[in-house]
Amino acid sequence: MQKENGIDVEFDLRHIWHPYTSTITPLPCYPVTSAKGVYLTLEDGTQLIDGMSSWWSAIHGYNHPQLTTAAKTQLDKMSHVMFGGITHQPAVELCKKLVAITPQDLDTVFLADSGSVAVEVALKMALQYWHAKGEYRSSFLTLRHGYHGDTFAAMSVTDPDNSMHSIYKGFLPKHIFANSPQCGFWDEWNEDDISDFSEKLAQNHQQIAAVILEPIVQGAGGMQLYHPTYLRRVRELCDDYGVLFIADEIAVGFGRTGKLFACEHANVSPDIMCVGKALTGGYMTLSATITRKYIADTVCSGEAGCFMHGPTFMGNPLACAVANKNLEILEQNQWQQQVANIEKQLAVELPRIATLNKVKQVRWLGAIGVVELHQPVNMAEIQQAFVNAGVWIRPFGRLIYIMPPYIITSAQLSCLTQAIYQVLKR
Ligand SMILES: *Cc1c(COP(=O)(O)O)cnc(C)c1O
Repeated sequence: MQKENGIDVEFDLRHIWHPYTSTITPLPCYPVTSAKGVYLTLEDGTQLIDGMSSWWSAIHGYNHPQLTTAAKTQLDKMSHVMFGGITHQPAVELCKKLVAITPQDLDTVFLADSGSVAVEVALKMALQYWHAKGEYRSSFLTLRHGYHGDTFAAMSVTDPDNSMHSIYKGFLPKHIFANSPQCGFWDEWNEDDISDFSEKLAQNHQQIAAVILEPIVQGAGGMQLYHPTYLRRVRELCDDYGVLFIADEIAVGFGRTGKLFACEHANVSPDIMCVGKALTGGYMTLSATITRKYIADTVCSGEAGCFMHGPTFMGNPLACAVANKNLEILEQNQWQQQVANIEKQLAVELPRIATLNKVKQVRWLGAIGVVELHQPVNMAEIQQAFVNAGVWIRPFGRLIYIMPPYIITSAQLSCLTQAIYQVLKR
């Protein structure tokens, strides 16, 4: 029964799809009425400490006064205006900032609507680049256990063993997958780790338009934190063979791993970089694909005479205004210190969780903590247990992971790790 003026969770259950859900066996959702700082407030008044940053995005916490003001101020000027033939201050300011903070030479920005679209744009840039050079290259080299989004081209470079590929077989283009890195971020580097990638590139480089991967952290494909030398070798090999290198920083960009961009762990600069998720501090969807001027110019020197993409809501002023404020806050808040503190605390508190029988491994980097179990979790059960413990943590498969807002206090972070410990101990 619907409560008066309440959220109709029954309707939701029967009529609304949530991310990766079944209409046959749907799980009820938790009704959230507001969010502030690191807290989500449920309809019954329960407050939960947020361990997810709404999937990497709400890095400064929810309903941040400065972000909310930035949105309201921009709303009073204009929410949206087409980007074809028109420009505006929020977009120009944002692109200036992105050019300034991204690795050297990345100086030409394409504003897109979501992470998946930023990946589509990056792949299209690479294809048009080679087409303009008169070479027919249509393959991408990527890593197993990667994740690049849910649209078709993005899916085609996402891990081939998850069900997406078998379901859409015949429609999805086939790309080349190298073994994912085995050396962990904190492990000693083993040169064998790069051999499969190196061989695949050597064998196929003439047909490969670009390498695409997630730098340092393979996110949705398994939350693996890999060795910076792997990334450095990828850059070197791409240079050796003259293949473009696309870094998908959508999950890890804007400080999450302890560097502003994860590529910095290996001191490498990609040819094309995708950012999204935390770009607006979790306020709304916006992404960007940033490349070098000579690549952009080559793309545009081809038959088409331009880059063939232009979404309706490209450069949305409202999203750009919030993104600008978000990047300002990042600086003001001294994110490096915030993330370093979280990392230090995870290094102390996660090892205790590793002593539990159900746990296979714990790992951490920056403001990311991962607990890998031997067996997949029972989602309904564990989700309720976490809510009962006063935290919002959403596991998948054998992984319980946290990537809290950078503003989380040490006491609040302890609540998250305590909750994981207590729930797994049962
Ligand atoms: C989330 C994610 C995407 C897709 O972004 P959406 O905004 O969900 O389309 C792409 N790549 C990586 C690494 C991601 O984490």
